Amino acid sequence: MVTQGMRTMLAIVKRERTPGLWLQETPIPMLGAFDVLIRVKRSSICGTDMHIYDWDSWAQKTVPTPMVIGHEFVGVVQAVGSHVHDFHPGMVVTGEGHVVCGRCRNCLAGRRHLCNKTSGVGVNRPGAFAQYLSIPETNVWAADPNISLEILSCFDPLGNAVHTALSFDVLGEDVLITGAGPIGLMAIAIAKHAGARFVVITDMNPYRLDLARKMGATIALDIRTANLSTVMTDLGMKEGFDVGLEMSGNAQALNDMLAAMCHGGKIALLGIQSKAAAIDWDLVVFNGLTIKGIYGREMYETWYKMTSMLQSGLDISRVITHRFPYFEFEQAFRVMKSGQSGKVILDWSE
Ligand code: NAD
Ligand code: ZN
Repeated sequence: MVTQGMRTMLAIVKRERTPGLWLQETPIPMLGAFDVLIRVKRSSICGTDMHIYDWDSWAQKTVPTPMVIGHEFVGVVQAVGSHVHDFHPGMVVTGEGHVVCGRCRNCLAGRRHLCNKTSGVGVNRPGAFAQYLSIPETNVWAADPNISLEILSCFDPLGNAVHTALSFDVLGEDVLITGAGPIGLMAIAIAKHAGARFVVITDMNPYRLDLARKMGATIALDIRTANLSTVMTDLGMKEGFDVGLEMSGNAQALNDMLAAMCHGGKIALLGIQSKAAAIDWDLVVFNGLTIKGIYGREMYETWYKMTSMLQSGLDISRVITHRFPYFEFEQAFRVMKSGQSGKVILDWSE
């Protein structure tokens, strides 16, 4: 139990409504009757955390201050609320960063990832870049302790990748991924694991294209110097890609993808496009394309699939490229910003 004497902890906090983050003493979060208090062991940095660090317009209108940030984590149960029966001190756990309402139509139907009133850990409620995190037991995932802490700390973005990559059947299909960021890199391994024939990925960052090759991409294409139609000819593809995973958030990438899809192709859209992004709608209509928007992960079918695929040989360990102790978070954010990284981990173990 957390004793009376140690009511505060260290946390990475958005304190001022200006760019930057602050490591500071913060109250240990409250433990409600249905909550689980977690001693954080590892956390990993997400693009969302970068937006909060930079204090862009999205962050300014979304994040109240002060706010403990971060939502990708793994830890050990420290204490549980009086109504929690399935979790016990010492269990290794990770968790879902979207806290859903439980009462809307989708929640009641068991489609919690489509809840229309979610609140975000480390965005609208205290987060995981801290020594302790308190979340509802319905958000806690009992982890397989045989999976490494580093990998477990990436279950949130791995869940984005799995939810996107498994949205459409890829067995025997040719898959195009645009954007070799951490999530695109993970999606390579998932699509291969799920039986895709060719997995082609595009980016313009040589460091990430190199990682993409290590992750098993059939071809990792630098779109500054080559194009997709040449790749298709080289691979002997005749009609275009069957499944597209848009993971860059870049409008040009989406347009490249639309033009490279086969008739009847399926696209899962994870990347967050700007409001002004324009596409050639003729390609969607006349080629009979399906486009599905992806937000978050399915609770908890995606979590189940992540676990079982890791248990049956899925390997995403190469996506993790950097590790820092939590008090060196400034260096960690700098590495993330440079683009010369995959996933960057913060270590909270003493
Ligand atoms: P990231 O920003 O690290 O990676 C994006 C990659 O796309 C970069 O490596 C960049 O060089 C590359 N890129 C830029 N322009 C390109 C182009 N024209 N063609 C090909 N590649 C190009 O992002 P990430 O953390 O891997 O996340 C991927 C995307 O998914 C981001 O847009 C992110 O905002 C979004 N996202 C969405 C959700 C959701 O729930 N929908 C969740 C997490 C992340
Ligand atoms: Zn809901």
